[in-house]
Amino acid sequence: MPELPEVELISRALDTLVNGRTISTAELRRERLAPQITPDGFAAALHNAKINFVHRRGKHILFDLGNEKTLIVHLRMSGRFSLLAANREDPKFTHAVFYFEDETRLVFDDQRHFGLMKIVSTPELQEAKELKKLAPEPFSEEFSPEYLRDTLKTSKRSLKEFLLDQTKVCGLGNIYAAEAMFAAGVHPETSAYKVSAKKVPLLYDSIRAVLNIAISHAGDLAVDPENLEGGYFSVGDETVWYVYDRENEPCRNCETPIVRLKQGGRSTYYCRKCQRK
Ligand SMILES: [Zn+2]
Repeated sequence: MPELPEVELISRALDTLVNGRTISTAELRRERLAPQITPDGFAAALHNAKINFVHRRGKHILFDLGNEKTLIVHLRMSGRFSLLAANREDPKFTHAVFYFEDETRLVFDDQRHFGLMKIVSTPELQEAKELKKLAPEPFSEEFSPEYLRDTLKTSKRSLKEFLLDQTKVCGLGNIYAAEAMFAAGVHPETSAYKVSAKKVPLLYDSIRAVLNIAISHAGDLAVDPENLEGGYFSVGDETVWYVYDRENEPCRNCETPIVRLKQGGRSTYYCRKCQRK
């Protein structure tokens, strides 16, 4: 599943590729991709719609359209966009196609079929179920050390589960949560409300730092318009991780073997010396 830095990169790339273009026809080929609308309704809502710009909220990609509608896309596990020339064939699992006037087309394919699309009215975008409960964006002013401190206080869950909850902190997935906790020196099993006053600002800085590093790392890579994948292409260099997926490998800080722990069904990685409870 792509994490926030990948979705940020993909939405920036999409914006560069398609902003200002007009969708002449849209085809919903797999109905369950957009369960709240029929293929006819999908086509009608997007017919002759100009794409003003593409942006992002959390891990949702948002196509802001000239007809006061917004197309919300969640890539989930394997959703992928490609901008294809007329002579190129559709990928095998093509579930939606957006044709432009110059005969190029933006194709959404999804091998694992978990992707989701929805069309909403732009003035009501923030009220959409997908976005309404999301915590503030990690780089917004609203997401402050005070916000983090106050929100931590409201939760008795483990810090790891807290960080993955998008209604508390927006944008951290399994990888960046583990990396942020390592950078802040906090143990993943610490109860959220028990994170010390001293550690909160460290955790806050670490969350922004790991996301920032990943985004700038991602930004350095060339974008292939025919392969805007939701994978980890942008940060696939494993050497950038301090703890994630490094079980039994030496901590980069103290050489203690990294421990893997199961929390809420997902693996967490940490250094038992650098991250004490
Ligand atoms: Zn260590």
